[in-house]
Amino acid sequence: MNDDIARFGPSGNDEAFYEKGFKHSIDAPKYIADMGLSAYEYNFTKGVNLSEKLAIEIGQEAKKYNIEITAHAPYYINLANPSDEMAEKSFGYIISSLKMLKLMGGTRLVVHTATQGKATRDEALALVRTRLARLDEIIHEEGLDDMWICLETMGKYSQIGSYTEIIDLCTISDRFMPTFDFGHINCVMQGGLKTPADYKVIYDYCLSKLGKWRANHPHVHFSHIEYNAKGEVKHLTNEDTTYGPNFEPYATFLVENDIYPVIISESRGTQSMDAKQMQDIYLSKLGKK
Ligand SMILES: [Zn+2]
Repeated sequence: MNDDIARFGPSGNDEAFYEKGFKHSIDAPKYIADMGLSAYEYNFTKGVNLSEKLAIEIGQEAKKYNIEITAHAPYYINLANPSDEMAEKSFGYIISSLKMLKLMGGTRLVVHTATQGKATRDEALALVRTRLARLDEIIHEEGLDDMWICLETMGKYSQIGSYTEIIDLCTISDRFMPTFDFGHINCVMQGGLKTPADYKVIYDYCLSKLGKWRANHPHVHFSHIEYNAKGEVKHLTNEDTTYGPNFEPYATFLVENDIYPVIISESRGTQSMDAKQMQDIYLSKLGKK
């Protein structure tokens, strides 16, 4: 979907969803639409264990309520694993996630590329590049050319995924785009994301490497996250005033530069409420433009 407005929504089902008596993800699109939101990230983070029938049914609900469904691939994918056999398994998890997401009517799959492990940073990155080039071929062979692989920026220094690394990896294929997790980016910058200009630096690098469409329609995770000297510690909620990042400067940046991402809240337990709060800030700035 290429509408000229940012979409907001939760990652998975939050606490309020269950408190209101909803039990299953099939009810999520209605719940999200009732809140005035328009995106939903389905989690395959612990595995792709959803029936095709249910995927189709969730997709029908999403279509009915104009919710863009995205998905998050399993956490155990690691494209820097020295074992080619393990890399093949990672490809398998990505392909099965993509197929399920397609049944749900979505196109954006979030993927964590790798942890550095015992290799040097350059060695790990070289391996990830080789694997991503192969993944690109497999996606084509599987007839999944209409899908996006959204490589995520990560919050710990031990993980592959600074914003420059991710943008550089996305140059491998036109079907790769960044998931800017600004909570993560703020962790590795030790609280450095503060002003619209801080976001512009990242945007300008993305624009120079990936062109206007991908720079202006990225996938985004936005949540407050606690960090220490090693980076990410844990996800917080919008109530946090210590760690950030605060959404307000990013909303200013979006409105001033005509950027239209899909923005997912990964707050701890209050994802929908926090997505709504961010959307309200964004819409009020858009209204004043
Ligand atoms: Zn993630």
